[in-house]
Amino acid sequence: MIEIFKTEKEFMDFHLQNEINNQSIGFAPTMGNLHTGHITLLAKALQENDIGVISIFVNPTQFGVGEDLNQYPRTWNQDLEKIASLESKYPDKKIIIFYPESEQVIYPHGKETTYSHKRLSGILEGKVRSTHFDGVTTVVKRLFEIVKPDKAYFGKKDYQQQIIIKDMVQELNLPVSVIALPIVREQSGLAMSSRNNYLSLQEKEQALTLYHSLNEVTKALSISLQEAKKLISQKTESDSNWNYLEVRTKKLEVAHSDSKELVVLGNYQLGKTRLLDNIEVQLQ
Ligand code: AMP
Repeated sequence: MIEIFKTEKEFMDFHLQNEINNQSIGFAPTMGNLHTGHITLLAKALQENDIGVISIFVNPTQFGVGEDLNQYPRTWNQDLEKIASLESKYPDKKIIIFYPESEQVIYPHGKETTYSHKRLSGILEGKVRSTHFDGVTTVVKRLFEIVKPDKAYFGKKDYQQQIIIKDMVQELNLPVSVIALPIVREQSGLAMSSRNNYLSLQEKEQALTLYHSLNEVTKALSISLQEAKKLISQKTESDSNWNYLEVRTKKLEVAHSDSKELVVLGNYQLGKTRLLDNIEVQLQ
C-alpha cells in the first residue's frame, strides 16, 4: 500500500498511531527523478523495516548560486510509477512517499543551518560547492525530525555526503542508524545519476572517462600510493575537465603510504554538468 504525505502534520498523526503499532521505519531521502539507484535504497528500507519512506524534495539550500536548482528534473508521474513497482514485491509492507507541498513544510522557520562538518565540508565536493554540505545536513536533520526513521539509507555514490551524515548522527546522537549502499551503475559503468539526463549521447561516452580513470587509479594503487598520485597528476594536468581526482582514506583523511582502506574519488565536468563517482579500495 502506498500513501502520500505532503505535510508534517500527516507524519505527526502517523507517529501517534504508530506508538501503538510500533512499526519500524526505513527512510530513503531523495530529490526525485528516480532511477534504480534510488529505488534500491527504498527496496532495502522495505526489506529491513515494516514501513519504507521515500522523500522527494528538491532542497534549495544545497544548491549554490548559479547551480541547477531551477532546471533540476521534476518528474513526479514517472517517480510514482517506479515507486509503485515495488508494491508487488513487498505486498505486506507500507510505502509512504513524503512529497512536501511547499518549501515551508521543511523550513517553517527559514533556512537555518543546524550542523556544519568542520573537517569535511570544505574538501572535495565542498571545495567547489562551499555551501553544499551545510544545506545537505540541514535538510537531512530536518527530514529525520519529521520522518523519525529507525534506519536511513544513502548511496555511496555521494561518498562524502554519507560520511558527513554518519558523523552528524554520531555527534548529535540522533536516534537513527545510517546505512550506505553500493553505487548502482549503468551497463557501461557510468554511475546512475539524475544529472545524467543532462548529457548528450556523445557526452555520455565522454563521461566514461571518470569511471575508467577511477579504475586506472585503483590499479595504480595496487603498486603504490606514489604511483597512483603520479597517474592522477598526469590526468588532471592534461584534462581541465577534472574538478578533482583524489585518493583518500575511507574516512576521507589524507592517505599515507601505509593506509590500506582507501577510496578514489573524482568529479569530472562535462559542459555545465558535474559528474561524481568513486571506487573503494582495500589494499592487502
Ligand atoms: P539524490 O536524489 O541525488 O539526492 O540522491 C538521493 C540518494 O540516492 C542519495 O543517498 C544518493 O547517494 C543515492 N544515489 C543516487 N545515485 C545513486 C546510485 N547510482 N547508486 C546508489 N545510490 C545512489
